[in-house]
Amino acid sequence: MLLGAIALSYAFGLGRFLSLEAIKSSQADVEVWRASRPLLAALLFFGGYTIVVALTHGDGTVQPLSTRSIVIATGARPFVPPIEGIDQVDYLTSENIWRLRELPGRLVVLGGGPIGSELTQAFARLGSRVTQVEMAPRILMREDVDASDLVTQRFRSEGIEVLVDHTAKRVEVADGEKRLIVEHRGRELVIAFDALVVAVGRKANLTGYGLEELGVKADKTLDVNGYLQTSFPNIYAAGDVAGPFQFTHTAAHQAWYAAVNALFDPFKKFRADYRVIPWATFVEPEVARVGLNVLEATERGIAHEVTTYQIDDLDRAIADGEAHGFVKVLTVPGKDRILGVTIVGEHAGDLLAEYVLAMKHGLGLNKILGTIHTYPTMAEANKYAAGNWKRAHAPQALLNWVERFHTWRRGT
Ligand SMILES: Cc1cc2nc3c(=O)[nH]c(=O)nc-3n(C[C@H](O)[C@H](O)[C@H](O)COP(=O)(O)OP(=O)(O)OC[C@H]3O[C@@H](n4cnc5c(N)ncnc54)[C@H](O)[C@@H]3O)c2cc1C
Repeated sequence: MLLGAIALSYAFGLGRFLSLEAIKSSQADVEVWRASRPLLAALLFFGGYTIVVALTHGDGTVQPLSTRSIVIATGARPFVPPIEGIDQVDYLTSENIWRLRELPGRLVVLGGGPIGSELTQAFARLGSRVTQVEMAPRILMREDVDASDLVTQRFRSEGIEVLVDHTAKRVEVADGEKRLIVEHRGRELVIAFDALVVAVGRKANLTGYGLEELGVKADKTLDVNGYLQTSFPNIYAAGDVAGPFQFTHTAAHQAWYAAVNALFDPFKKFRADYRVIPWATFVEPEVARVGLNVLEATERGIAHEVTTYQIDDLDRAIADGEAHGFVKVLTVPGKDRILGVTIVGEHAGDLLAEYVLAMKHGLGLNKILGTIHTYPTMAEANKYAAGNWKRAHAPQALLNWVERFHTWRRGT
């Protein structure tokens, strides 16, 4: 089975398959590009306003380039923890999994974060028997408990074995069989597998191209200021290598600021705006979030009210046979100002956009409630969540007066 790009499209969009021809040609394109693209091999010299960069081409030739400014956007790569014996097996990561040509019968996915969870469900739906191993008490740990519970329930209902509170201890190969030994509450368990996916996090690509030699400051990511400048003001950075987020859309956002600042500094520069950052995990049910959830608001001692709308009540979701999930909105107590939103359900990432816009531009739940939403759409869930908030904050004194007024008008 030709898995690479099928699973890629699957993981990013659950079940939207590419044609085989498109897959083959896109894979060929990627291989050609990988072999031929120039690599930033060294930041050779930094003096005053000039950086000299050495590019190594696919054919081995080295091309020096001088520039006034440079944007480092080297991304991140999978982090592989030092698990005893792991090098005995050709473990997979989100980087090399696309080269699989056979569907593994028994697949172990190490990691319950977004990437591990997306790959878990994608491979289970392709037909692998998947065991997901997570050391934390639940998968999707950054999300609220109700969100990760819904995903866990769905995974289990699809036959996925979700092992939480299980820590990978070592990998063994015996009698031709590969095994992962995990520890759970002081006891060891053996999980036999045909393929192991390691998805426990990603680390920034900081080495091998001269940053350390120059002394550009970095910790887990490059140290950058609000203008995306590193400790060398004409070396900028954007994306996973700059952090603190690891999303395509935040990388694109930073890239604009880094590029524009590099072009116009010192005459004009713009500060990147991280106030409202959305993201989604593309499992089914999809989980999308912007701003605070209950977990973070509680941890940070931020006063909040929670309003929830259950999507099983929504006409479009019922018609589509997808009547599950919820919209959960955190607001400032007594006010309609939105602190954060979590949506779980079909197209959650798309539904979230209305709240992202509202938060970015200071629109509260009253404004969402006062906006006409097309019937029957999933987006109506946003309005109904705002309606639930309004009901909980109904002006009781005014409603009592209106009741008396109409009683008087009816003459009863
Ligand atoms: C499996 C998976 C699923 C994901 N899903 C999502 C998602 O659904 N939504 C989302 O927002 N984000 C997602 N992400 C995260 C997203 O891919 C990254 O946040 C994003 O790609 C970061 O962009 P970047 O430009 O910083 O790095 P990258 O996209 O990683 O690009 C960096 C590039 O620099 C190249 N490079 C490195 N060193 C050198 C060098 N010395 N010389 C020349 N080139 C070099 C690398 O080869 C790479 O091509 C996902 C990530 C993974 C792994």
